[in-house]
Amino acid sequence: MNHLAFMGFCALAVLSACKLDEGELVASPEQKSSEYVLPYPIGKTYTCTQGWNSRYSHQGVFSYGVDFSMPIGSTITAARSGRVIYLAEHFSDNDKESGKENILIVMHSDSSFGRYVHLTQNGALVDIGQIVTQGETIALSGNSGQSFAPHLHFDVTKGCELRNCQTIPVFFRNTSPHPNGPVDGNAYTAGPY
Ligand SMILES: [Zn+2]
Repeated sequence: MNHLAFMGFCALAVLSACKLDEGELVASPEQKSSEYVLPYPIGKTYTCTQGWNSRYSHQGVFSYGVDFSMPIGSTITAARSGRVIYLAEHFSDNDKESGKENILIVMHSDSSFGRYVHLTQNGALVDIGQIVTQGETIALSGNSGQSFAPHLHFDVTKGCELRNCQTIPVFFRNTSPHPNGPVDGNAYTAGPY
């Protein structure tokens, strides 16, 4: 379908997510009102290497995790305000061993948990019990644990925070539309909020 025909189709469609051009979609109300922003500083752009239900490892309880490719030592910021309730930062980078992920977990006001995974060794920049505000620098990314390449895995759980906890879908309100979660291979720039 050519572009004009497609635009005509869009004019007729009652869909809010009518695609006009590659990557250009209207952000859903759920995204615009989301409590979450991308877990990295405004102005930074990183590529999603695994989104929701990705065939590699975002399955089962991890279905709604998102991976962003970034060099070891990249600044990680709080996607949402909360209290730091767990951190592990003693594991080394690049060992590729499951269970040896450096993790920082922030509990939010609705008792959901934001998890920042594969951080670099000694990469936590906050302490357990500390209150962090949205956008605050909290950690440095890495490549610890079961990871093929340096990246940040971010997800949100509800009900429990560490082992076998079901992740839930969240949208990031300060970036381009992603009605089905960030898409593998797409780059997402953190905009102001
Ligand atoms: Zn992941």
